[in-house]
Amino acid sequence: MSQIANNLQAIIKRINHACMIASREPSSVKLLAVSKTQPAQAVKEAFLSGQKQFGENYLQEAVEKIESLKEFRSQIEWHLIGPLQSNKTRPAAESFDWVQSVDRLKIAERLSDQRPENLNPLNVCVQINISGEESKSGVQPNEALELCTLVSKLPRLNLRGLMAIPEPAANNMSLKAMKDMFISIQSKLKAQNLAPDFDTLSLGMSDDLEEAIAAGSTMVRIGTAIFGKRDPKTN
Ligand SMILES: *Cc1c(COP(=O)(O)O)cnc(C)c1O
Repeated sequence: MSQIANNLQAIIKRINHACMIASREPSSVKLLAVSKTQPAQAVKEAFLSGQKQFGENYLQEAVEKIESLKEFRSQIEWHLIGPLQSNKTRPAAESFDWVQSVDRLKIAERLSDQRPENLNPLNVCVQINISGEESKSGVQPNEALELCTLVSKLPRLNLRGLMAIPEPAANNMSLKAMKDMFISIQSKLKAQNLAPDFDTLSLGMSDDLEEAIAAGSTMVRIGTAIFGKRDPKTN
């Protein structure tokens, strides 16, 4: 078996074990394979081992990869998880199934306007700046409900949930805060009959997937533990 296939199996075991400990169904946690900086061949290998959902950070790189794997396009779900500038929304709206890094209304409006008619509405998550750092992307927690409400009303978007990248130092507090925010926003949207598909709490990476699952994550984003270490120069 290839290294990638082995690693995928090991990650699925970790997810299942974490679910067991948290008394959760393994099917309640999706695995997103983060393939940023990895060649299309590595994605293909993971795909042929059964992995169907992939996350990318860099738009240009991702668009090229999606194009070179287009024979599998209908079977792969592509997620953009990296920061998005408002002048780069068109390729994101045209090439991806999900954008998890929506943190401003302007970005959401452009994605909705630019989503091609022949495709399903674009699935989006609102990214929360949960550890309160200046440099990180994400909306401030106290602005999250308002942004979610506005995004949920855009015609060509389907608001699916929340995403965050907690600072490792504040991880457990941040995970707990994210879970509370997710439940609170979900119930407020529901009370207004908004965002019927709001089911995703995207939290957890290679080093903290167990903690994230214990905190209620429904989607873990795993790069290094599947594809190996990335070149630090390219991140
Ligand atoms: C790179 C990245 C990941 C994966 O991180 P690993 O530590 O390699 O598992 C997850 N989420 C986001 C937003 C990332 O940029």
